[in-house]
Amino acid sequence: MTIASVIVDIPASQTDRPFDYIIPPKFVDIVQPGMRVVVPFGNRLLQGFVIEVKETTDMSIEQLKPIHSLLDVVPVLNEELIQLGRWLTETTLCFMVSAFQAMLPAAMKAKYEKDIRLIEQHMPLVHENVRALFRDRLTIPWSEVEQTPYVRLLQQEIANGHIEVVYRVEEKGKIKTEKWVELCANDEHVAHALASLSTRAMKQKQVLEHLLTARALPLKQLLSETNSAWATVQTLIKKQLVAVKEKEIYRDPYANHSFSKTKPLVLTEEQRQALHAIGQAIEQNVHDVFLMYGVTGSGKTEVYMQAIDLVLKKGKEAIVLVPEISLTPQMVRRFKERFGSKVAVLHSGLSLGEKYDEWRKIQRKEVQLVVGARSAIFAPFENIGIIIIDEEHETSYKQEESPRYHARDVAIFRGRYHRCPVVLGSATPSLESFARAKKGVYKQVTLTRRMNDHALPPVEIVDMREELRAGNRSMFSRLLYEKLTERLQKGEQSVLFLNRRGYSSFVMCRDCGHVIQCPHCDISLTYHRVQQQLKCHYCGYEQRMSAHCPACQSEHIRFFGTGTQKVEEELTKLLPHARVIRMDVDTTSRKGAHERLLNEFGDGKADILLGTQMIAKGLDFPNVTLVGVLAADTMLHVPDFRAAEKTFQLLTQVSGRAGRHHLPGEVVIQTYTPEHYSIQLAADHHFEAFYEREMMNRKKHGYPPFYYLTLITVSHVDALKGISIAEKIAAHVKKHLSAEAVVLGPVASPIARMNDRYRYQCMIKYKRETNLTTALRAIVEHYQRDMARGDVTITIDLNPYMMM
Ligand code: ADP
Ligand code: ZN
Ligand code: ZN
Repeated sequence: MTIASVIVDIPASQTDRPFDYIIPPKFVDIVQPGMRVVVPFGNRLLQGFVIEVKETTDMSIEQLKPIHSLLDVVPVLNEELIQLGRWLTETTLCFMVSAFQAMLPAAMKAKYEKDIRLIEQHMPLVHENVRALFRDRLTIPWSEVEQTPYVRLLQQEIANGHIEVVYRVEEKGKIKTEKWVELCANDEHVAHALASLSTRAMKQKQVLEHLLTARALPLKQLLSETNSAWATVQTLIKKQLVAVKEKEIYRDPYANHSFSKTKPLVLTEEQRQALHAIGQAIEQNVHDVFLMYGVTGSGKTEVYMQAIDLVLKKGKEAIVLVPEISLTPQMVRRFKERFGSKVAVLHSGLSLGEKYDEWRKIQRKEVQLVVGARSAIFAPFENIGIIIIDEEHETSYKQEESPRYHARDVAIFRGRYHRCPVVLGSATPSLESFARAKKGVYKQVTLTRRMNDHALPPVEIVDMREELRAGNRSMFSRLLYEKLTERLQKGEQSVLFLNRRGYSSFVMCRDCGHVIQCPHCDISLTYHRVQQQLKCHYCGYEQRMSAHCPACQSEHIRFFGTGTQKVEEELTKLLPHARVIRMDVDTTSRKGAHERLLNEFGDGKADILLGTQMIAKGLDFPNVTLVGVLAADTMLHVPDFRAAEKTFQLLTQVSGRAGRHHLPGEVVIQTYTPEHYSIQLAADHHFEAFYEREMMNRKKHGYPPFYYLTLITVSHVDALKGISIAEKIAAHVKKHLSAEAVVLGPVASPIARMNDRYRYQCMIKYKRETNLTTALRAIVEHYQRDMARGDVTITIDLNPYMMM
């Protein structure tokens, strides 16, 4: 009896373990670990992941049910990814099925139809029966294949690389196809037809002759190469000499781009040393973690690319993670130009289908390198030679929903498995990573010099309180205004940076001070000028902007704060001749808008680029000589122990946008707290001093990297019940942890109500707690029923980056 252990698709505690199923004889030798199957569960049919195939079971055989049907014919998860899934389950306390699903492209998570497809028309299929199936077509629906006794034969042909499984993504145009014309008569037949064509049928002759050598060609190509018309082909179809077929093509998001190949640059001494250290780990197959600490523009990316070169030469594969926000066309272009068609690109701007196509290129080993955002860390490569995480300090590498993993931890897991180096690069490493490098846990490589040998740009801090005292009520200081004007005169470009879209553009009554709040969340609504709407950024609630204060009926109701729209308005008043491009979530939501706006700016079609953090990274425009930060402290006052670190990182990133080429640059930072060390030290470009200072703080207050944190958030529609559950949880945790651990709370969360649910949190600080995960799991199990009913939600984050 062959048995499969299956993780079924119910994310709940009771079902979070493997269930055994009998593999029916027709599926024996077909079912493998990593495939998805459909199994009976209770009285329903469910999807599940096979994680093991075995001969024995602890259950009695009579109790076991058979697998109902197959979802995959080849595994979608390999052995390593199955192990990784188990590890994620343990380290992030997620359900196994959530871990596995996180590794697959979204297109495969839902139920999609699938087809079996002949990879190439004239593939020599080994099995007679399979050949018969494909006699007059390229694809067969899986539902039809399932009815035949040939599943095993098909699997062999898949292993031989003759046919493949494709998932029909029923979305935006499904699988993309192209019309192909192919000969459907044999050569003899065609020769006969050619001979009998009259001299007036020159075009038909040409088309046939053309096809005799190529056998099949895209319709468009055929028509243009033979300079003939569709009617000619139609005539040949009628004569049953040729046929037209739809052939699948990959959706290529970069199809309209041309990439000219670049060669590796001659490295500087510093770069050479960095590459040497990493290269040794590559050569000797050792898993080391390198922290590549190098100022912006010091040539980190060039070192990554040359290290990848070494890896590809060894016949291995590489993963490069970059933050979503810096997956700019410029960054992608650099990798495409160096590695051409060896690269797959994965980011959220792609459609479901495009992502799935990129993923398939990886699985079919058609590419050796993936450049992508967080989830690209799960790329199904089997022979990884290096994993690189650029801007490793970025908090977007942490996923904020289950599984709450950090890509850095997953990278290190995979690096260890494949015995290959992991490279973490940054100009402002996270405190955690820098501390590990100092302790020798990570190996540090350092790039101190900028490539163009320009010193980092000088930074001036403007105290906005002084401006107000001097009677300047504008959001532009006199200094920044002056410098902007200067740039306009010289024909140079400026970048203006504002933290977060509409972060503080709330609506307040000037008479009574009433601030319009979301009726469902404890957060003020954000004003969107274009639609004249007030929106809640947490629950999506919208209402029209009202003309009167809801509290006192006054007409003096205004929006405050500085959303990008408002800055743009004021800017056009101040500098009416300036051409401004605004980039924020609103102007870039349409596909391709991001790239188009950047190109326009790069082509000099605007003088000022105004934007949120999406413009903070990766931009590299030679004509930008001024960077202005409008309000440096908006991020300093959020209730998050990393606020100073994030402020420092962001200011450093933004400053790095100025003077990257021949023209020298300068930076103006406007702030209401000019004395804060994160602003002062960012202006001095002094990461190490910031590190020392911030480490003192963290030590004093017991935060990472000195302590680990776990955040438990309880939310309930009933405030009293919520707090009572949170109290019970805190008591339970305290009882099971050592005296060294600190349990703070429960207290109301910084956003005390969201979506009509009251929120409470407990923070646990600890150094080493062997019982922690067991205690936490017990909590989840205890409240399982209440959670399933939706009364209460409990989220446990073992390494929180969002404290709200
Ligand atoms: P970082 O990733 O550290 O910000 P980049 O790799 O983007 O730095 O390098 C900054 C600029 O210097 C780029 O335009 C890059 O092409 C160039 N560059 C990098 N290494 C070299 C080198 N060895 N010789 C000449 N130019 C280089
Ligand atoms: Zn809301
Ligand atoms: Zn009022």
